[in-house]
Amino acid sequence: MLNAIANERITILVDDDQFILKMLTKQLNMAGVSNIQTFDNPLAALEKIKADPYAIGLVVTDLQMPQLDGVEFVRQLGTIGFLGSVILVSGEDKRVLQSAQQLASGYKLQVLGYLVKPVQPEALISLLDGKAATEESRSHLQFGLQKTYTAQELRRAIDDYQLVNYYQPKVEIKSGQIVGFETLLRWNHPKDGLLSPAKFIELAEESNLMEDLTKQMMAGPRGALSETRHWHDLGYKIRIACNISPTTLANSKFPGFVIEQLERARLAPEFLIIEVTESKLATDRLAAMASLARLRLHKVDLSIDDFGTGYSSLAQLRDIPFNELKMDIGFVQGASKSKSKATILRSCLTMANELGIATVAEGVENREDWDFLAKLGCQYAQGYFVAKPMPANEVPAWINRWEVRRRSLTESLFDNKLTTSVLETSAY
Ligand code: C2E
Ligand code: CA
Ligand code: CA
Repeated sequence: MLNAIANERITILVDDDQFILKMLTKQLNMAGVSNIQTFDNPLAALEKIKADPYAIGLVVTDLQMPQLDGVEFVRQLGTIGFLGSVILVSGEDKRVLQSAQQLASGYKLQVLGYLVKPVQPEALISLLDGKAATEESRSHLQFGLQKTYTAQELRRAIDDYQLVNYYQPKVEIKSGQIVGFETLLRWNHPKDGLLSPAKFIELAEESNLMEDLTKQMMAGPRGALSETRHWHDLGYKIRIACNISPTTLANSKFPGFVIEQLERARLAPEFLIIEVTESKLATDRLAAMASLARLRLHKVDLSIDDFGTGYSSLAQLRDIPFNELKMDIGFVQGASKSKSKATILRSCLTMANELGIATVAEGVENREDWDFLAKLGCQYAQGYFVAKPMPANEVPAWINRWEVRRRSLTESLFDNKLTTSVLETSAY
């Protein structure tokens, strides 16, 4: 599997040191990667990539080069819109590598990770394995399509109910108990397949379609509230989280709409969590704050999303009565191996505990991250390790499967008689 993925397209190696180029080529060959081109000059590598970005599957680059430093190289890869994967290599201390990695993620580059010189073959192989796993897990979503869409196309998609809700579970780490689902939108495009929100959320914001999109996501015939009503009727008393942009919150009519729709779906407000994902558009902050405060007065829970990233900060935590803090994926993944990520997670958890706020880790992809978060005392987890987002009709069967699987994850389960199933659970 690894070979197939790695050899379909060209792998580009960039390092000003010929010896390192030879050594990395050998290591990549050993890992089954054969279609490799080496460059001792990053500018020449960029020219090659620019000429045909689709032909390149992987770029492995040093961060310290005389002609162009690695950070600028990464920035230029980002501006080209390079869609392959990137591995960063450096003799620098780990924190420099991590910040370059963060920067690359900011440019939406698919970073597999970093390697510290001298590069260990096992470390390289494990990053390449991650690449195979990620490509597999994303294969159903058209992340790679370069195509962009127009406001008219999105308008039509909303009217034709092409936007569909997917749902990702949130579970308590200590008991494995399911506490709720987060609604994540997909565009089921008639020609291009299932599109990720990265393809249309910003467009919706810019073309004034966010409010209609949000209304349909929450309250349409296949909206989150009516699906949740349906699950409650089946006996699954789960909570539902919806992502709401501040531009939508800035409309003073929004809280009234939410309360009305909750009543219509016969759901107590305690079952709804509003996740606030800051938008890039300038918003009337005070108006958005007022809506959030009103929703809170009506007992809807508020969650601060992507906590720790530029848009989601301590100031918001101070100004808005949040009940939940979602720690950004960037601090969660690989935290067991990164001292600085672990320190940040630990201090977020301490702060949230002192404020009496629930803590959720996003993007938990493996057992290692799960165990580490359990050790740190994080309450809830979401991520591919538990389940990928799924369509509504798969939810009941998944719940039943999870009830079996969670027992192997939480050894203390039987000692503590935590056998309560989601059927008996209401809120956390
Ligand atoms: P978000 O709210 O931070 O959602 C979490 C994202 O992480 C989702 O991406 C989810 O599929 C992904 N994810 C979950 N577990 C894992 C994991 O283990 N590993 C990795 N690598 N990723 C994981 P998705 O579905 O592509 O959504 C992206 C963003 O689009 C969301 O980020 C949210 O900000 C926005 N979005 C989605 N639906 C809506 C919506 O209805 N309204 C608004 N305003 N924004 C939405
Ligand atoms: Ca979210
Ligand atoms: Ca998030």
